[in-house]
Amino acid sequence: VKNGGKNDALIFDLNMQKELDRTSSLQKSMRDSLENGDFCIHLQGKYNQQKTLIGAEALVRWEHPEYGFISPLKLIGIAEEINLIVPVGNFVLHQACTILKAWQSKNNTKHLTLAVNLSAQQIWQEDFTDNIIGIIEQYKLDHSKLILEITESVLLRDMNDAVKKLLILKNYGLYLSLDDFGTGYSSLSYLKSLPIDEIKIDKSFVNDIIDDSQAKMMVKSIVDLGNNFNLNIVSEGVETEKQFNALIPYNIDVYQGFYFSKPLDLASFEQLLIESYS
Ligand code: C2E
Ligand code: CA
Ligand code: CA
Ligand code: CA
Repeated sequence: VKNGGKNDALIFDLNMQKELDRTSSLQKSMRDSLENGDFCIHLQGKYNQQKTLIGAEALVRWEHPEYGFISPLKLIGIAEEINLIVPVGNFVLHQACTILKAWQSKNNTKHLTLAVNLSAQQIWQEDFTDNIIGIIEQYKLDHSKLILEITESVLLRDMNDAVKKLLILKNYGLYLSLDDFGTGYSSLSYLKSLPIDEIKIDKSFVNDIIDDSQAKMMVKSIVDLGNNFNLNIVSEGVETEKQFNALIPYNIDVYQGFYFSKPLDLASFEQLLIESYS
């Protein structure tokens, strides 16, 4: 037994070392990967109550030649550590603008919205708003269809600064969504100063809505709150028909999750569009 414990510790050390090596190797190759086309985005559909496709969320993907797909949370964490979050974010925004531009060139897809995720560290950059608007302006789009998903973590540094920047983007005409709602900040007082259009109920509450009365109460409270502030409400992480049916009474505007569609590569999403709009 003693020996086994020792072995476990050894294996743990080896695994940890392996993970550290992997992280360091990923750090070294990220910039090249960005330039080599090893990054891409996948799209996950968003649906209304009638189960009609109304838009998508762009989710970054990194297919590493050696390690395969790197999870976006890991990838974003590394990018933040080595100061590549702006290039990664810009890559995603360029991709999103290209896609939105293509959708807007066709009558049957020009109503679709497209969301991108922003890391708090992007928003904290001094030239954040100029950078975002500068990229969007290159595409001559109807940018009211572009959604920026942010999380409460943007408020962790300088709340006034964050609000000021978001207000610039909102006045420019972008649509602002507060992601993972209910998991972050404990105080709700900031909601009245944040210039957001929408909240996304975190998937943890949606996931537990069937058997957990607390989760149900969270969903109800978030919906009430959203309605009082006149915000659009999205539920993410809807995995089953049962969960969707449980959500219907709350009159939520938008639904997203594996039940409707998984994140798809661009060709597969294009196929989904053809099926949805032909
Ligand atoms: P998120 O913004 O909350 O995105 C939703 C995540 O839930 C995605 O994971 C999506 O694949 C997953 N998901 C969708 N439907 C379901 C479902 O029905 N059940 C479950 N269990 N999961 C579902 P993904 O793609 O692994 O992304 C994870 C997180 O990484 C995102 O969470 C977001 O915080 C971050 N992320 C992804 N792409 C980007 C990006 O381009 N920029 C930044 N800053 N962050 C990103
Ligand atoms: Ca999101
Ligand atoms: Ca989320
Ligand atoms: Ca509403």
